[in-house]
Amino acid sequence: MTNLFSLEGRVALVTGGSRGLGFAMAKALAAAGAHVVICARGVEALDAAAAAIAAAGGSASVLAFDVTDEAAAVTAVRQIRGDHGRLDILINNAGTIHPAPAVETETMDWHRVIDTNLNALFVLSREAARPMIDHGFGRIISIASVLSLLARPGIPSYVTTKHAIIGLTKALAVELGPSGITANAIAPGYFRTEINVGLQNDAAFTKMIETRCPVGRWGEPDELAGTVTYLASNAAAFVNGHTLVVDGGLSISL
Ligand code: NDP
Repeated sequence: MTNLFSLEGRVALVTGGSRGLGFAMAKALAAAGAHVVICARGVEALDAAAAAIAAAGGSASVLAFDVTDEAAAVTAVRQIRGDHGRLDILINNAGTIHPAPAVETETMDWHRVIDTNLNALFVLSREAARPMIDHGFGRIISIASVLSLLARPGIPSYVTTKHAIIGLTKALAVELGPSGITANAIAPGYFRTEINVGLQNDAAFTKMIETRCPVGRWGEPDELAGTVTYLASNAAAFVNGHTLVVDGGLSISL
């Protein structure tokens, strides 16, 4: 029987692939047979991540660029197409957060979060869709959040962008479906990564997670491996415009 979850021959771009959730997802796609191109700004971490994927038997290369730099994003997709002849899978994962209440959020910081967490996803999706259309196949997977469904005080720009990712995903899904391209989102709950070290060290917050989340703990980045592999594979060919929540049940519990 054909392996429904195989990504043999596929080429994937994972933004923010140097650490955290992006690295875990890049490892998973490589383990399923894809060549993964990982992107981030920091070159050292990027090289170390690619080396780790190669050491595990996967195929990986790096492209250092800032996803908010439109010219760099356009060039990156062009380079992947030149190097590999195709781009099948885009994982829109790079993201940032600016912790400040609305009345204390400077406009500049608001724009930085919108540029990173939303505008860059549009630009990269548009650029990636072109080679995908040519091949009649594509998977655009964007990393949303439980904060795409719920809000917490103190991070208005983050909550806004994560809600918008669900809208962007649906907009891409209805336009690109006829070209053989699906667009879906993953909404992770709380996973231990650098972005939330402050919360991990906050005993009251961790207590809240342990109490409210039905599985009673933080998520580990590798727990996204199955979800991203599934959505990128032929197994999810008829799944389009969906947001798959991976949060241990946090968002359905009160
Ligand atoms: P990390 O901070 O651990 O990793 C972020 C990654 O994105 C790094 O590789 C970073 O590398 C890269 N990055 C950040 N800004 C840019 C940029 N402007 N251009 C290119 N690369 C960039 O965060 P996580 O792994 O936790 O987060 C990944 C995604 O998952 C984000 O979208 C986040 O919002 C989302 N998420 C995370 C959750 C969690 O609990 N951890 C929960 C829900 C959603 P560098 O700094 O070198 O550029």
